[in-house]
Formats: sequence, structure tokens, C-alpha cells
Amino acid sequence: MSAVVIDGRAVAAEVRERVAHEVRELAAADHGRVPGLATVLVGDDPASEVYVANKRKGTEEVGMHSIHHGLGASATEPELVDLVADLNADDEVDGILVQLPLPEQIDQDAVIAAIDPAKDVDGLTVGSAGLLAQGRPGLVPCTPQGVMELLAHAGADPDGAEAVVVGRSILVGRPLASLLLNANATVTVCHSRTADLAAVCRRADILVAAVGSPRLVRADWVKPRAAVIDVGMNRTDDGLVGDVDFAAVSEVAGAITPVPGGVGPMTIAMLLQNTVRAARGRRA
Ligand code: NAP
Repeated sequence: MSAVVIDGRAVAAEVRERVAHEVRELAAADHGRVPGLATVLVGDDPASEVYVANKRKGTEEVGMHSIHHGLGASATEPELVDLVADLNADDEVDGILVQLPLPEQIDQDAVIAAIDPAKDVDGLTVGSAGLLAQGRPGLVPCTPQGVMELLAHAGADPDGAEAVVVGRSILVGRPLASLLLNANATVTVCHSRTADLAAVCRRADILVAAVGSPRLVRADWVKPRAAVIDVGMNRTDDGLVGDVDFAAVSEVAGAITPVPGGVGPMTIAMLLQNTVRAARGRRA
């Protein structure tokens, strides 16, 4: 294996330590008041329950206040929008996280639109997306921000680099493309209609796969010494695997993230960082 394996768990631990320090600073400056993150879970999907439990645990571990609201699977859109309005008005709440997906009777976009942009720690409102697209300061979606942190840690500087992002979702691909562009990379975004995906990927100094297709990216798609970030999380008979053929690509790339233990641990760490940023912004 020639590639350096980027240890997402270690980088996430560094971010959490940094956040814990900032929480202590904020508390010292404001009569012991710590930032608060509100989580909202609708229904009883086991995977979502685990995600929310991990977010709450992470929140408390860095010394922040976790406020949780669980609604039944039959909750209505107005009920949820009202709850979000209450959280917007609650001064103890600095960040609001509505766990997705929502049950089908609820319009996800309407609920996200109800979140105060100043508390939008998932970075999913149209306002946050617009600020990011214009290269202006705002709250940025957690997973793409985690990818940027891993690239920095690996010494893969986007400035002047060819970056290829495979995937154009609102959650990952699009915001990541904006972050890379804002960091002066030359960015290409690929998707299911891209002609000759392999040839486009081979141009990349920085290659990010955010597709949801097990081991899609093969060794002969990768430029020698490229930094390869694998966002994919696919449950297969072999367990959890990414969108990159890790064993083969490791022989070609300069740096690579594993799955699990790469991008995954970064997402919660960046959520905590966003919550502290939101708290700072609201107290400024
Ligand atoms: P998504 O909304 O399903 O988007 C997938 C994207 O991949 C779409 O843009 C799609 O193109 C593109 N695509 C699908 N098949 C393709 C192909 N054969 N060639 C090229 N592009 C293709 O997924 P997502 O939410 O962005 O998530 C992507 C992956 O990341 C999933 O495995 C997810 O579980 C994982 N993920 C991980 C984390 C984490 O914390 N590690 C967080 C979020 C997501 P079209 O637009 O043309 O359909």
C-alpha cells in the first residue's frame, strides 16, 4: 500500500477538543451559559434513533447543552413547523437539527425553510446554501465541511488543484463543490449522466466520491498520488463499504480515507463546531 490513510477518527477527536475549548471560553464570557443544540426526531426509525443519540452524546461530551424533542411517526407538518418556531424563539437554543428523512406526510423543504438561518447548524436552508454559493460566511453542511478538514489534515491544498466531486446532492456534492471552489480549486461535478466518468476522475488531484455505489471508483480511475476522499456508506454482505475500491486505490493514491473511520466520524464533529459558531454569531 502506498497511500497515506487519513484517520478520520483522530481528526474528529481533534475537532471535538477544539470545540470543547471554545465552549469553555464562551461559558466563561457569559456567566457559565453554554451553547445549546436542539435535536428533533420524528418517528422511530432505528438508524435515525442511533444518529440522533450519537449527536446528543457528542453534544454533551463537549460540554454543550442537548435539548431533544421526539415526535410520533404520525406527527403533522404544522406540528413540526410550530415546534421549529418555538426553538427559533428559544434563547437557550443556538442550533436546530431536524433529523432527516421525515415521514412522507411531511414536506421536508417546508420544515427546513422554517429554521432560523442563524440556527441552521445543518446548513440546509436555502439561505445558507446561497451564502455558500456566493462564497460568503454562513453555516455550512457538516459532511462537506468534514471533507475539507480531512483534506487540510492530509496536506492536500485545493488552491490551484483539479478537484472532481462525484455526486451532486444538496447534502454533500453541491456544497462540497462550492467549498472547493471557494478554496480556489478548479472543480468538476459529476453525476449519473456524466459521460466517461473514469476519464474525468483521472484528471483529479483531489477526488471525492459521494454517490452511494459500493466500490464504484476503481484504481485505474485515479491519478497517481491523488488525494481520494470516500464519503460513501454502503451496507453490503461484506459489511460497511465506501464508494471507492479501497484496497486497489490505496496502491495508486497519495492519501485516502477508509470506510468506516474516514468521513463518517467528521460529520458529528462538524455539527458541534457549527453549533459553537452559531452560538458565537448569536452572542456577537
Ligand atoms: P444522493 O442524494 O443519493 O446522491 C447521489 C449522487 O450520486 C447523485 O448526484 C447521483 O447522480 C450520483 N450518482 C449515482 N449513481 C452514479 C453513477 N453511477 N455515476 C456517477 N454518479 C452517480 O446521496 P448523498 O446523500 O449525496 O450520499 C452519497 C453517499 O454518501 C451515500 O452512500 C451516503 O450514505 C453517504 N453519506 C455519508 C455521510 C457521512 O457522514 N459519511 C453523510 C452523508 C452521506 P444524479 O444527481 O444524476 O442522480
